[in-house]
Amino acid sequence: MTNVCQNCSDNNESNLLLDTGTCSKCGNKGDCWDHDLIAFYRQFGVSDDFIWSKLPRLLDPNLDGKRNSMLKIGQVLSSELK
Ligand SMILES: [Zn+2]
Repeated sequence: MTNVCQNCSDNNESNLLLDTGTCSKCGNKGDCWDHDLIAFYRQFGVSDDFIWSKLPRLLDPNLDGKRNSMLKIGQVLSSELK
């Protein structure tokens, strides 16, 4: 899973799904998409609003902070998608 900023992405997603991180292509800090994570969420048919309000938009913002865990993400998805 990698972060791609708006300048480096050739596949522009909804702005709702941007979050601050370090771009894995150019190394700039700014608004990035994690296309793999977004594609993963889309498999569950959740809306962009749902992702924005309930789920991390980057698996690893790569800002010297902690990664989000897929386990926790799975728990949110399974508790919300009943
Ligand atoms: Zn970039």
